[in-house]
Amino acid sequence: MRKTIKMYGLPIDIVTLESAFERFKQLLDRSVFSFICTPNTEIVMVARKDEELREILKSSDMNIPDGIGLVIASKIHKLGLIERVTGVDLMGKMLEFCDYSRKSIYILGGKPGVAEMAVNNIKEKYSNIQVEGYNNGYFDKNEESKIIQNINKVSPDILFVALGAPRQEKWIYHHRKDLNVKIAMGVGGSIDIWAGTVKRAPKLFRVLGLEWFYRLIREPWRFKRMLILPKFMIQVLRSKNITN
Ligand code: UDP
Repeated sequence: MRKTIKMYGLPIDIVTLESAFERFKQLLDRSVFSFICTPNTEIVMVARKDEELREILKSSDMNIPDGIGLVIASKIHKLGLIERVTGVDLMGKMLEFCDYSRKSIYILGGKPGVAEMAVNNIKEKYSNIQVEGYNNGYFDKNEESKIIQNINKVSPDILFVALGAPRQEKWIYHHRKDLNVKIAMGVGGSIDIWAGTVKRAPKLFRVLGLEWFYRLIREPWRFKRMLILPKFMIQVLRSKNITN
């Protein structure tokens, strides 16, 4: 049974990495399409003003809390989130599972060459995974139907989509009825980590909940985008109730 809290009207799953992984396996067992999202603080803030994104996050099958801000907000308002569960960690567990159960994946997204590098690294680490294909994430609208055809030709168990948020969530949502895959998941920058083009924050930063700070140092051009984080915290501290 899925357990969620509501944060600004959005369902966020009360999960640990382990229980998120269990939920993934349950979703994979179903015969219908499932959609996993990895909302962080930025996405929750964007969704407050973006009705379509709100509807998407309400309709998905699991929203893991991929932002320390969400966990802190939940602590302040005693909503019940347990810990931050990152998309990159869950993707790692999913890949490991696909390796021993010989499931298939397809990767859509990343700069030209990046998806290929990610695929090569994944294949090297998990030799039994069937990587059915990949495509970079810089395509025009008129190329979409060809890309979907290519995905459906191989009908992978899992489609990882890395087009940046919220484009990837919207892309999956719009094409969910056309995609012949069991699970689609938006994974954003995880693809760069698998490709080795971006380094993950060292463990100490992760344990201290400072991965955002590491990212800011490494990618200072994100500064403007990241200003949304203190804005979120101010709103959380000022509000009596953040569930609606
Ligand atoms: N990306 C893409 N197509 C786009 C925009 C982004 O394939 O039109 C890729 C980008 O190359 C990167 C990934 O999406 O590999 C995540 O992008 P970003 O860091 O902006 O997203 P976030 O991790 O913040 O969701």
